[in-house]
Amino acid sequence: QSLEMIETLKTLIADRGYEDEVGIVKTGCFGFCGQGPIVKIHPDNVFYVQVKPENLVEIVDEHIVKGRIVNHLLYHEPTSLKQLKRHDEMHFYKKQYRIALRHCGLINPEDIFEYIAYGGYEALGTVLTDCTPEQVVANIKASGLRGRGGGGFSTGLKWELTAKSASDQKYVICNADEGDPGAFMDRSILEGDPHTIIEAMTIAGYAIGASTGIIYIRAEYPLAIHRLKVAIEQAEANGLLGDHIFGSDFCFKLQIKYGAGAFVCGEETALIHSVEGARGEPTKKPPYPAVEGYHGKPTCVNNVETFANIPPIVLKGADWFKSIGTPTSPGTKVFALAGKVNNVGLVEVPMGTTLREIIYDIGGGIVGGKAFKAVQTGGPSGGVITKTDLDTPIDYESLKAIGSMMGSGGMIVMDEDDCMVNIAKFYLEFTQDESCGKCTPCRIGTKRMYEILTKITEGEGTREDIRKLKTLGQMIKDSALCGLGQTAPNPVLSTLHYFADEYDAHIDAKH
Ligand code: SF4
Repeated sequence: QSLEMIETLKTLIADRGYEDEVGIVKTGCFGFCGQGPIVKIHPDNVFYVQVKPENLVEIVDEHIVKGRIVNHLLYHEPTSLKQLKRHDEMHFYKKQYRIALRHCGLINPEDIFEYIAYGGYEALGTVLTDCTPEQVVANIKASGLRGRGGGGFSTGLKWELTAKSASDQKYVICNADEGDPGAFMDRSILEGDPHTIIEAMTIAGYAIGASTGIIYIRAEYPLAIHRLKVAIEQAEANGLLGDHIFGSDFCFKLQIKYGAGAFVCGEETALIHSVEGARGEPTKKPPYPAVEGYHGKPTCVNNVETFANIPPIVLKGADWFKSIGTPTSPGTKVFALAGKVNNVGLVEVPMGTTLREIIYDIGGGIVGGKAFKAVQTGGPSGGVITKTDLDTPIDYESLKAIGSMMGSGGMIVMDEDDCMVNIAKFYLEFTQDESCGKCTPCRIGTKRMYEILTKITEGEGTREDIRKLKTLGQMIKDSALCGLGQTAPNPVLSTLHYFADEYDAHIDAKH
């Protein structure tokens, strides 16, 4: 619908003779998904929401031609019934701090010069002219940036380990095979700001001594793939990618490889096997990819959101980055806020923001004024968080301490009507489907757990089944080969911990 509206807008503007004065820019996602399609007018900074094709004539005739704001298309803050003209007045945006999403909704992702106009490729130029590879690694390490794909491992340390592995050939891989249900931050960054990933990967290549980068992206992201291809061509044509970048001796080439969104490929070794054309199955570590990765060569794997933080860190410095967030988790995190919350969308907040701020201030509270029951963070690998912990400032450590995890940033809110046993079953069905089948605890154990959950939800469960779920869950966690299996029982174990009464209610309903 948005694409058709762009064409209609072009025609309307041309019909009124304004085509030389008014440009139409197709941007990436604004993040406020529940309010789309969005039309933002510059330089007036007016933000129109839920625009329909029939509103376009009014926008052009009133705003563009007569300079009058179309009030009924402005956003209404539900709590105050105020109409808000600018997006930075809205609660949804007020508490956000955009680093990874800084260009999304702002620039035309298919125009390298718009990216350059906002400081794009300046970080790469700085690195190539003013820094040694060791200095780049030291800077990223000092920033405290941690992997945003879920693991939370120090990005600088990963770069340092790969840089120190001696080899004639090394690789940088960008994991863009987002497989967490409900998470779409990587897709949005690639669709809205592809050059930032190219720039960051090139910086990583220089820092670790790699001349080849691979973007492993899910084939179901056609727009992101298209924009990446356009961006790669533009960067090559302008001497920012390929041979002798910025006239230096440094050469770096990028390739795109396609994945199928397999959740297990979030595990680095499985991803590398898949990029090689083999089955996406994990292997035991060590050896770590930093030593022996793609085709046996040292390989540095980072995800899209992690890379999106690199150019701002290079330009603004490690101290600036550390001034945002918490001491152990500097910077921001992008969350895909979904479920029973009024404002669904992509939100980027400083680490240390509380769940209450995200759900109530940014998310606008629970749909229909219902009671909050729980929120699942960390996707199928995480756990539920109840209202007792709503005021916990979130970072990698605090989420772990309350029985969940950061994961890649999926955040699903549940209200008083949701059955927590069904939620746990939903997540387990996902992980047992996504299990690669290589090791027995995960392949068979998650299936058995799913069967028990089905029995319980169909009113055939017993108290003995609860005991079995707990024992089996712990055994799988302790013995599965990779992170997928080790975390698959989490949603079940955490709902058993916080919502045992709901399991009991299913069991007692039969008797
Ligand atoms: Fe495969 Fe599951 Fe074992 Fe991981 S834990 S290797 S996904 S079977």
